[in-house]
Amino acid sequence: MILIVDDSPGNIFTLKTLLELNDFPTDTARGGEEALRKVLKNSYALIILDVQMPGMDGFELAEILSGNNATKDIPIIFLSAINIEKKYITKGYSSGGIDYVTKPIDPDILLLRVKTLYRLYEQNRALNEMQNILKKEIEFRESAQQEAQVASRLKEEFISIASHELKTPLASMKAYVQLLERSLDKNDKVKIYVDRTLVQINKLNSLIADILDSSRIENGMLKFNKSLFNFGKLLKETVEMICQTYPDYSIKVSGDSNVLVFGDELRLEQVIINFMTNAIKYSPDIKKLEIHSTTENGFLIVAVRDFGIGIPKENHAEVFSKFYRVEGAAQRFPGLGIGLYICCEIIHRHNGKCWLESEPGKGSTFFFSLPTAIHMNENQKNISL
Ligand code: ADP
Repeated sequence: MILIVDDSPGNIFTLKTLLELNDFPTDTARGGEEALRKVLKNSYALIILDVQMPGMDGFELAEILSGNNATKDIPIIFLSAINIEKKYITKGYSSGGIDYVTKPIDPDILLLRVKTLYRLYEQNRALNEMQNILKKEIEFRESAQQEAQVASRLKEEFISIASHELKTPLASMKAYVQLLERSLDKNDKVKIYVDRTLVQINKLNSLIADILDSSRIENGMLKFNKSLFNFGKLLKETVEMICQTYPDYSIKVSGDSNVLVFGDELRLEQVIINFMTNAIKYSPDIKKLEIHSTTENGFLIVAVRDFGIGIPKENHAEVFSKFYRVEGAAQRFPGLGIGLYICCEIIHRHNGKCWLESEPGKGSTFFFSLPTAIHMNENQKNISL
């Protein structure tokens, strides 16, 4: 709607008729004060404002409107008997929606300017509406994101507290079962059940440790205790331990891993164990593993090969993601899908990489690389670090 402000009823009548004949709805005010009241109450697309009026004149009204957030963007066409300077009109009015027409009014010129400013107003309004919608959308997304972050933090906190709390009773349980096992006679029939209980306790222990580690990774709390050590010695001891636990598997070790590595020995042992126990878990029929180590361009590369179920090519990229488990055959085996995620994080934090080569039915080779400190010579290999 267009508001016509003029103290002369004759002028109001002429303008109103002209505009309404051209399909512009109008409202009128006989002075500055009445116009101000109406503008504050209703919404107008344009104001046609007579400059010279008794009481509050056109410029005063425009200045008041320019200072109010709700009205500062309404375009104004000033009507004046004299040819006024534009810079005088624009004083205090910065919306850009401003023009003037001199009296006596040329109807064509007035209509042209009304159409231009009306369009400007419509465009501004559409733009504002769009901005408001976007603002609301952004606010909605931000609050949803914040809620999700809070929920995820609470979940991580819960997991972290719960696994900590589970660890303590489990440790005592393991100690008591170990005491019980030692107190039993070698040929005691109960011993077999006690041993099985210990195996299950160890499994539960490593599950809880994995959950705790993944929660530590999420919170940036996975800490490393790095020192310089002989990787070959660590690999040898870890393989021996696995051989004892899985005596029916043949494990062939080749290559040379006798290099000094600056890293967290316990965490790197965890990676070797994880790669090897995965190789064992996912190759139930062919009980054979191969571990090969080489050094290349300042990096030690360790490969753990099995001859088990393998992994289709399209799943290779995802295998190191948190909670990812290959669909199909692999799901017959128990697991949470976080072991490789943790291994990958440990290796990354040692500036190395993890990758794999695998084909369904033919087996998999999982690799990790680590920067070496120094390659050891024959004499150094015997020094226990
Ligand atoms: P989990 O074994 O507990 O499921 P991991 O993070 O160790 O979790 O492994 C992720 C997934 O990668 C496994 O669920 C399995 O689908 C696949 N995978 C890992 N190692 C092997 C392997 N040696 N042979 C075949 N599939 C494997």
